[in-house]
Amino acid sequence: MTTMTDLETPEARDVRRLADGLDIRTRAWIDGAYVDAASGETFPRINPATGIEIARVAAGDAEDVDRAVRGARAAFESGVWAHAAPAKRKKVLVRLARLMEEHADELALLETLDMGKPIRDSHRVDVPLATQCIAYYGEAVDKVYDEVAPTDRSAVVMVLREPLGVVGAVVPWNFPLMMASWKIGPALATGNSVVLKPAEQSPLTALRLAELAAEAGLPDGVLQVVPGFGETAGQAIGRHPDVDMITFTGSTEVGKLFLRYSGESNMKRVALECGGKSPHVVLPDADLDAAATAIAWGVFYNQGEVCNAGSRLLVHEDVREPLLERVVKVSERIRPGDPLDPKTRMGAIVDETQLGRVLGYIESGQQEGARLHLGGNQVLEDSGGYFVEPTIFDAVSNEMTIAREEIFGPVLSTIGFTDEEDALRIANDSVYGLAAAVWTKDVSKAHRYARALRAGVVWVNTFDAGDITSPFGGFKQSGFGRDKSIHALDKFTDLKAVWINVGS
Ligand code: NAD
Repeated sequence: MTTMTDLETPEARDVRRLADGLDIRTRAWIDGAYVDAASGETFPRINPATGIEIARVAAGDAEDVDRAVRGARAAFESGVWAHAAPAKRKKVLVRLARLMEEHADELALLETLDMGKPIRDSHRVDVPLATQCIAYYGEAVDKVYDEVAPTDRSAVVMVLREPLGVVGAVVPWNFPLMMASWKIGPALATGNSVVLKPAEQSPLTALRLAELAAEAGLPDGVLQVVPGFGETAGQAIGRHPDVDMITFTGSTEVGKLFLRYSGESNMKRVALECGGKSPHVVLPDADLDAAATAIAWGVFYNQGEVCNAGSRLLVHEDVREPLLERVVKVSERIRPGDPLDPKTRMGAIVDETQLGRVLGYIESGQQEGARLHLGGNQVLEDSGGYFVEPTIFDAVSNEMTIAREEIFGPVLSTIGFTDEEDALRIANDSVYGLAAAVWTKDVSKAHRYARALRAGVVWVNTFDAGDITSPFGGFKQSGFGRDKSIHALDKFTDLKAVWINVGS
């Protein structure tokens, strides 16, 4: 049997040595200290590249969530953070960003060991973008002004932004540190306390982040991290009567549960970033080389475990064959491999359950009559890990399961069209509306498509481009509320109008 260690390159061996020396934090972070779950229960963290247990993590449940919420509430009411001068909050968040930078190697290793993404991406993408996010919201704290309403001169009406109180942040496993940062950055910047629940598949970076935040000067109780399962810890946050708001990223199915939890408890505000089935629309005049590269990386990056993955390729029949040829060429270079090897561009699927789900969708594509054009298999099975090769289906119809449901794996569905109006109809024929792309050299068509595509983000002649300054989030069942950019601050505050009578 070949193990991952047998496949190891010298560079990977160096990284593995660092990984072996990691001190992994495994307990909940509540009121400024690591604590066991009240029940004493733990759950295993399995390295997806080897199938081997790397840690056992505290399994928080309703009791732990309640303790975390009470601590977060006490911190909020004390005003230690909520009433701190903006300059102070800024200093702490900017210091946290600096500490994340200083611990970038450690955070990147934890992320890769925990959820299987290539160390190259953890290093170059996840940790730097999470760090930038925290720094951005830290810098924003003292640059956002309240307003004075344009009333007549008998009054001065201040429109103030007030923090909500205790924010519950529930995040997924595909970009664990980045998703946590998208939530806690703006929530903390606006003065809230946060109870963060990382996904059970990837809690390790969040647990370390909390400690770094304390080191940066964040007062105890302002950021609590409760690892645990969705149905226990996640639901307890969703239903807690003293949580004022939920900011959630995850599946549409669980997003709907949070709406129900809110309605059945205290009508807490809910912001949802959910799934997607993003289309590329490739018109006949497109730059096929540029499109092919973006299409392949846009669906195979992060093993396809990306909410806005461009998983539906709508291509004009005139260019379908030459485009697919190019996409295949790029895809053949994206081979799954040891995530700890700095050269690896595609890692392991997060766990066995997700592996089964992805393989199940590949099977359903074949059964429903789509043509398997590339890949389709689990690979590197002897490693003990969960790897799937880049997979491309051709001759897909938008009614097939692989075109309608989010696969969250490295599977591309190609749908040909001849009528450009039909392409728009097919692109928008989805319950999701997270992102979309159009490829054309015709600037008028580009504008028309950008306006007509029902998605929170539309790319023109590119894919997955963006930075912290541009808002991100979906239309339709991809959710509502926006992460990133200055707009993300809105959902963590309430407006208060203070009407001051100043006489006539
Ligand atoms: P998931 O919905 O299964 O889990 C997300 C979080 O919710 C986890 O922390 C989980 O523990 C918790 N949870 C699960 N069941 C719960 C329940 N019954 N009650 C309360 N909490 C519960 O999603 P996932 O599998 O971790 O992540 C993949 C999904 O996330 C995909 O659908 C993907 O599109 C989506 N996602 C969206 C964005 C975005 O910005 N729109 C970004 C990343 C991922």
